[in-house]
Amino acid sequence: MEYTFPNGMHITFTDDDVVDIDAWIPADDSYNPYNVRPFAIGGEFGILAIVFASHESEAFDIAVDAGRLDGYMVADHDCEEECEHLLAGNASEAFDDSYLWIHEVPNPRMSFATLFGAMGVK
Ligand SMILES: [Zn+2]
Repeated sequence: MEYTFPNGMHITFTDDDVVDIDAWIPADDSYNPYNVRPFAIGGEFGILAIVFASHESEAFDIAVDAGRLDGYMVADHDCEEECEHLLAGNASEAFDDSYLWIHEVPNPRMSFATLFGAMGVK
């Protein structure tokens, strides 16, 4: 799947990039009290995760706990005060976010017709 953000940045992703599909609340679902929506998280080489979350820091926590940001983990992290690293995940580990980005992506409706069409059945 491809998507171009309004700022012109282009991403390519597959279902393998989606971390927590069970948390997806389609756009046409009327009950979404925590405003869960899809976020794309990436680095300098492209997409790292698609995550369904209520806000950006929750999205990072989910991506970290799924191991998707392992390549950005700061080894032997020992900042005590004034840490400017991204601290995320259940263990609140430190990540170098110099190249990390996060952007909300549009939330699709649940469409049987679209999914059926994607099967390629004629
Ligand atoms: Zn730090």
